[in-house]
Amino acid sequence: MKKKYYALPFLLLLCTLTACGGAAVQNKLDFFAMDTVMTFSAYADKSLLGGARDIVMNIESRVSTTLESSEVYALNRDGGGTVSGETAALLDTALTMCRATDGAFDVSIYPVVRAWGFTTGGEYRVPSFDETAALLEHVDYARIRLDGQSVTLPEGMEIDLGGVAKGYAGREAAAYLRKHGVTSGLLNLGGNVQTVGSKPDGSPWRVAIRDPNDPQSYAGVVEIRDKAAVTSGGYERCFEENGETYWHIMNPATGRPARNGVVSATVIADDGALCDALSTALFVMGAEKAERFWRSYGGFDMILITDDGETVVTPGLSYTPADSAPYTLRTLEP
Ligand code: AMP
Ligand code: MG
Repeated sequence: MKKKYYALPFLLLLCTLTACGGAAVQNKLDFFAMDTVMTFSAYADKSLLGGARDIVMNIESRVSTTLESSEVYALNRDGGGTVSGETAALLDTALTMCRATDGAFDVSIYPVVRAWGFTTGGEYRVPSFDETAALLEHVDYARIRLDGQSVTLPEGMEIDLGGVAKGYAGREAAAYLRKHGVTSGLLNLGGNVQTVGSKPDGSPWRVAIRDPNDPQSYAGVVEIRDKAAVTSGGYERCFEENGETYWHIMNPATGRPARNGVVSATVIADDGALCDALSTALFVMGAEKAERFWRSYGGFDMILITDDGETVVTPGLSYTPADSAPYTLRTLEP
């Protein structure tokens, strides 16, 4: 059995910052959190970057599925309990996205994710159809009760906020920096980019989107200001068995890796948590359904790369494909 683990330190390539035009100095902080290397860089005091990092670490300590001291670990072990206001707020955001996407994003997918080995320290394996069908009995976000800070999970259900936690953490870290007067920052939370303001000269940040078929290279560059850009890609975490590639983004309807033609889904919006949940959901939906969702839900932009070689982008974006990228660009009608 051949197994491969593509552990990429960064899920998006970042373009370098331009020279500083303002008074503040550019500082940079690298750290490991949420199973990935994060790089925070901002025109801000080093202590502020440390404060932003602490916010991410704190969220991780509360919502990790594998850390025995976390609140989510306790919920999964005990079938519910009382959580902190912050964890309740994150769960509430996540449940809102489960409902909005009609379950393409489903926080109760955890038993399935674990069966495939996509958890910290997990062993990759391909579960049988019978096994995944049995696990799906316990997957249904609509049966989670959240009443203030009190959570009740039905028998056998376990939750995983991994599809939204990094985006949420980026959003909270950015809010902290803005509150302390920072107007120029780029936070890379491995696949999730959160920007604060613009570059010091007022021009937008340039965020490169990885080429899902050649993740060392990039498919294009999108320009954003004060927004988040979050990518979900099968290449981020996957293994091969008998010539087949299996990845960590599950279709809650089948209990198996989502294969609806999208190989990379990037969502750009003000709210990083929304971007994170939606990038996972659009990957699950496939391009046609994602376009319908974009038209009805609104409030975000997207870049989808499909397995038939198309890049689909929404018209509100400033996106430039890389010269070398082998994709046909299709911009949606407004
Ligand atoms: P992302 O990389 O943001 O797309 O999130 C993928 C992670 O979210 C996986 O590693 C799982 O922990 C979890 N996950 C996988 N599939 C789903 C899904 N359909 N809905 C919610 N979370 C999911
Ligand atoms: Mg996500």
